[in-house]
Amino acid sequence: MESLIQISKINDFLFCPRSLYFHSVYESFSDVTYHASPQVRGRLNHVTVDTGTYASEKKYLQGEEVYLEKYGLVGKIDLYDKENKTLIERKSKISVVHPGYRLQLYAQYFALSEAGFPVERLVIRSLSDNRRYEIPIPEGEELRMFEEIMERMRVFNIADAPLEENLAKCRGCIYQTLCRPL
Ligand code: SF4
Repeated sequence: MESLIQISKINDFLFCPRSLYFHSVYESFSDVTYHASPQVRGRLNHVTVDTGTYASEKKYLQGEEVYLEKYGLVGKIDLYDKENKTLIERKSKISVVHPGYRLQLYAQYFALSEAGFPVERLVIRSLSDNRRYEIPIPEGEELRMFEEIMERMRVFNIADAPLEENLAKCRGCIYQTLCRPL
């Protein structure tokens, strides 16, 4: 069986494909290692004061594990509002909806749909400034891009992945010491 792609790694891959390899190397280390890294700037959200609010309400599914056979994806959704058929991803603070955020939400959307839950709206929420970003259901060019990234992640090989050209980006990268001593 081919290895599965973790939904949480999509954003890393978009940041720099080589992140995918080093993320796996670091996985056995403490999460604290990651907290300042650009790759995970949106990951803090799930452990916020907001988290407990929904857990007891029946209209929400929260933190549900999902599997998407078609693309070999595994991961967790953040929040699904059954009444409003809305899939929500909460971030601590975002000012720009990076492609990685959208693609992670698409992956959750496809997986949840495959599991039989109807999804009509996709939303990314920025908690600290209470902003909502409506994300269109992927189709056309967005869907094509999503499938292309999934395929690139599936066949990824560190030996074929070039170093990032932007040195400043590498300097801000948590994996720089291992990947590219400067
Ligand atoms: S150090 Fe540079 S090349 Fe290596 S993973 Fe980070 S951004 Fe990519």
